[in-house]
Amino acid sequence: MNNNPNTAIHCTVEQCAHHCGDKQYCALSTVQIGTHESNPTEQKCVDCQSFKRK
Ligand code: SF4
Repeated sequence: MNNNPNTAIHCTVEQCAHHCGDKQYCALSTVQIGTHESNPTEQKCVDCQSFKRK
């Protein structure tokens, strides 16, 4: 488990290897956000591209 939460990056994706367990933060110093859509129009159109499977 990651014990170095970056409190500037809130995240609830507990399935990600970079997630900080019971703390709802990411352990990375920076993350890459992107989209899988050609014309994103709402939240679900964008993704954390730093996601890594546990
Ligand atoms: S890499 Fe992205 S999905 Fe994974 S814990 Fe960090 S912010 Fe969340």
